[in-house]
Amino acid sequence: MTAFTETTCPYCGVGCGIRVDQQGAVQGDKRHPANRGALCVKGTALTESQRLPSRLLYPRIKGKEVDWPAAIEHIALRLNDIIEQHGPEAVAFYGSGQMLTEDYYVANKLMKGFIGSANIDTNSRLCMSSAVAAHQYAFGEDAVPACYDDIDEAELVVIAGANTAWTHPVLFRRLEAARAAKPRQQWVVIDPRATATARQADLHLAITPGSDLALFNGLARYLLDQGAIDRDFVTRHVAGLDELRQQLSAPEFAPEQVADTTGLSLERLLHFYRLFQAHPQTLTLFCMGINQSLQGTHNAGAIINCHLLTGRIGKPGAAPFSLTGQPNAMGGREVGGLANQLAAHMDFAPANRDRVARFWGTERLAQGPGHKAMDMMAALERGEIKALWVMGTNPAVSLPDSARARRALARCELLIVSDISPATDTARLADVLLPAAGWGEKDGTVTNSTRIISRQRPFRAAPGAAKPDWWALCQVARAMGFTGAFDFDSPAAIFREHAALSGFENRGERLFNLGALGTLSDADYDALHPLSWPLAGQHGGPARLFADGRFATADGRARLRTAAPQAGPGTRALLLNTGRLRDQWHTMSRTGHVARLMAAATEPRAHLHPDTLARLGLGQNDLLALSNARASILVRPVADDDMAREQVFVPMHWSGEFSAGGRVNDLTEARGCALSGQPAFKQSQVQASPVRPG
Ligand code: SF4
Repeated sequence: MTAFTETTCPYCGVGCGIRVDQQGAVQGDKRHPANRGALCVKGTALTESQRLPSRLLYPRIKGKEVDWPAAIEHIALRLNDIIEQHGPEAVAFYGSGQMLTEDYYVANKLMKGFIGSANIDTNSRLCMSSAVAAHQYAFGEDAVPACYDDIDEAELVVIAGANTAWTHPVLFRRLEAARAAKPRQQWVVIDPRATATARQADLHLAITPGSDLALFNGLARYLLDQGAIDRDFVTRHVAGLDELRQQLSAPEFAPEQVADTTGLSLERLLHFYRLFQAHPQTLTLFCMGINQSLQGTHNAGAIINCHLLTGRIGKPGAAPFSLTGQPNAMGGREVGGLANQLAAHMDFAPANRDRVARFWGTERLAQGPGHKAMDMMAALERGEIKALWVMGTNPAVSLPDSARARRALARCELLIVSDISPATDTARLADVLLPAAGWGEKDGTVTNSTRIISRQRPFRAAPGAAKPDWWALCQVARAMGFTGAFDFDSPAAIFREHAALSGFENRGERLFNLGALGTLSDADYDALHPLSWPLAGQHGGPARLFADGRFATADGRARLRTAAPQAGPGTRALLLNTGRLRDQWHTMSRTGHVARLMAAATEPRAHLHPDTLARLGLGQNDLLALSNARASILVRPVADDDMAREQVFVPMHWSGEFSAGGRVNDLTEARGCALSGQPAFKQSQVQASPVRPG
């Protein structure tokens, strides 16, 4: 009989279960609640993406191969030296939704607990931190209320700012199956582009970019004006109605004005509003188009407001549903991987600081939030941060204004990069490179979009001297002199401590409490089946949150809040929209080496409306320069009827490793939502001009 290893896909937040046989062939795990056996093209190509042309096999200092003891001693000495000279705030850590929860836990413990700096952030800041901030305000805790079963129950599915067909393909298949089984289910897709998702919609609202807040504030106003709110639910379970009603009474939220702001006809706008009013079982999925905005937190909050006003939360088929980009963005949030969180969903309130300091047995705990991703790069640029440890991510390509980020990384006194590849743009800038164990080699847990904790299990040995990230972190911590707190000998031991911390003196005031798993044996950890929090004993708990109308705020009531939309740029430049392709992942460091994943798009192309191309006098084989004050990149254009005339779309994946034309994030502005710190990747402007030979 064939033996299989049950593990989890390392790409997106759907969190598909995978079975790998002894030859390394993958198949979907039919018993996993996230995918029930389905996989997308990236998932099926997983073992191919493990065959990198250049794998980082041994530590390197300034390009010279060394052994682990030498690398660890060097890092520990340099970090201690920098801390002694400049203080703990001169040290920073930048992680990734690729890290396992156990890696994240140790990194957070080392940085916040023992180095004493909260300058630890993650590329999850780039994809869902606005949703996090909105959850924390509205619900009192960062918790996605929905579960995948809600897709089957919903009568109206609203998809806002998400090309789910390409970016969460298995989830999209489930949506298709739900509609096939329930023909009265309707879809509304809100996206300036007619994406593969939008083309499947019953109603596609191609709104003016950046007008999401006006659209959903207008919906809340419409519901209030129509008397279509759930008065009983709001009275008993929601705070802030009077203030919201007052704010939304402004003329700008009247339907006629919202139609003007969003660029929709009044008829289309009201069609959406009436659909929403008419369907108590409404599920609103949202992702980057909502979050990656100057008002990302309020965008997400405006969606949540509409659900709270109508009591559409905690009920089958009814919830706001933030989709997570990365496989473990949620797990990172659970352990405090964001600079403004402490650990186990706790913020830096004095009682939480005291609780965590006593649990960790430290007197050096960071006393307040640290630098978020963009601020971290600015502090690096100013020379305030002297040492940065980057783990499993490529900020030289993925951060906004990435040319500036590369300059800042290049001037860092001590840049440590842990990765599987030495060829990423960030790895090329490193002073110290540490070879990391990759997917299929490392062991731990991840948490998907709907709070399902799943195991990633190894099925082959790591090559060369590659090691798990938690191991490297513990070795460095001990070499720095932090003895006793980093004696973990396995991911199971780390998981137990993480679970115990989440339950430590938690008197039920937080939903995130894995305390019951704090005594798991190694064997039970090995055998752990997917389970979702909040737990019921040692088992997965209710998959749908807030069914009792009680929220994690001080008074148990959810909170309404909104803001007035900011005015758009109002210039004649093109608005640059960046996003993902179906077959690629992040900066392509794995998927870019798989021939069948590259087949659909061999180079980055700028998508422009045919009329815009004609205005510029461009053919599809010409070269186009996209420029602004920050940079200029060269790409070939493609005529795309699905684009609005004033926009250009460029995929975000291509790095210096794969394209000589430039990285699109060299053009994006390092500015974002003031509440969440999430970059507004979709709100930069560019000029487009043909490049003629000679
Ligand atoms: Fe992996 Fe996401 Fe595809 Fe599932 S949908 S196989 S998690 S990339």
